[in-house]
Amino acid sequence: MNGNKQLKERGDKVFIGTYARYPAAMVKGSGCRLTDADGKEYLDFMAGIAVCSLGHGHPKITEAICRQAAELVHVSNLYYTEPQIELAEMIIDNSFGEKLFLCNSGAEANEAAIKLARIYSAEGRYKIISLSGSFHGRTLATVAATGQPKFHKGFEPLPEGFLHAPFGDLQALEQMIDSSTCAILCEPLQGEGGVRPLAKEYLQGIKALCDKHGLLLIFDEIQTGMGRTGTLFAYEQLGIQPDILTMAKALANGLPIGAMLTSAKIAAPFIPGTHASTFGGNPVASAAAVATLQIMLADGFLEGVRKKGEYFQTELNKLAERFPTMLSSARGMGLLVGAVLTEQGVAHGTDIVNKMFDRGFLMNFAGNVVLRFVPPLVVTREEIDMIVAALAEVLAEY
Ligand SMILES: *Cc1c(COP(=O)(O)O)cnc(C)c1O
Repeated sequence: MNGNKQLKERGDKVFIGTYARYPAAMVKGSGCRLTDADGKEYLDFMAGIAVCSLGHGHPKITEAICRQAAELVHVSNLYYTEPQIELAEMIIDNSFGEKLFLCNSGAEANEAAIKLARIYSAEGRYKIISLSGSFHGRTLATVAATGQPKFHKGFEPLPEGFLHAPFGDLQALEQMIDSSTCAILCEPLQGEGGVRPLAKEYLQGIKALCDKHGLLLIFDEIQTGMGRTGTLFAYEQLGIQPDILTMAKALANGLPIGAMLTSAKIAAPFIPGTHASTFGGNPVASAAAVATLQIMLADGFLEGVRKKGEYFQTELNKLAERFPTMLSSARGMGLLVGAVLTEQGVAHGTDIVNKMFDRGFLMNFAGNVVLRFVPPLVVTREEIDMIVAALAEVLAEY
């Protein structure tokens, strides 16, 4: 078998250059550990970008995938399948939602939400307001919804009807609302934008504006959902309920899947012919998602996420006290954790992540402001201690 160097050479020759990859090819994983093609081991605090929440190679997920793959892999949505129904029932039983649409990725879930918001709203209402610094996906409509100009560059003209309100400013947001606005779209905590939480009062203010102007509130919980923040969905901790919620990343612990959740009333205009997906709710992905949810909803699991997240933030705050020129503080919810870099720290953000990679620790630099940690939710305190100790050694070099 090829090593890292050969695989990098082969890959770089054949792939369109959309990714700046680290010089390693991963071959095997178990729990929070990954092994590359040279046999080097890593402690994984990326979890496939907040996807493999139960860790790599979880035996129950592997079993569910194998069992379903042996029965039936795909039939399309021309027919019913039980794993898909079971998944929808589990999500609905554990959330505000009454109706679910299944697809294959986060961007697709947001596309479904955008289309539903437009078709549901009265004629002529099509504008969707999102927030600056947000991330909603890479398709044209979700890129237009994303509040970061760097993702728009070169792809204009973008689909019409997407506005971005300055982060944290309710007044500016209200001024953008007019008679053609149909929805406000936001993440309860901006993940890609730098693990930036939205204050509870701010979110409640957004909800109040939606009520006042008759708008739908769409929560993009693609990253914050599925237990990442210590409850199944982040909205449960915020005292408000969205009208539409999108999820994806960790839903099937690594198999591609996405979903849009809403009420029966709002879902009503999505009649046959309005929206569809060939692979959406594929039986294998659905079986993996059912097995994932069974584990996440078991006693003590989500409480453990909250406790480990608090512990992690406490330890990172101690590091910020030790290295005040580099780190200012920790922030986040549950195990979606960011260590905010100072101005000097930001200048070395990429370098810090590369040095951690060399030492065998996977994490990233997000929003040009934080070191982001999204470990598998099964991470142990010992593993948190290991990455904090390694980070202390790296920070001491500056
Ligand atoms: C990752 C992400 C998306 C896009 O999901 P894809 O599966 O990559 O299309 C959208 N919104 C948020 C908040 C995300 O974190």
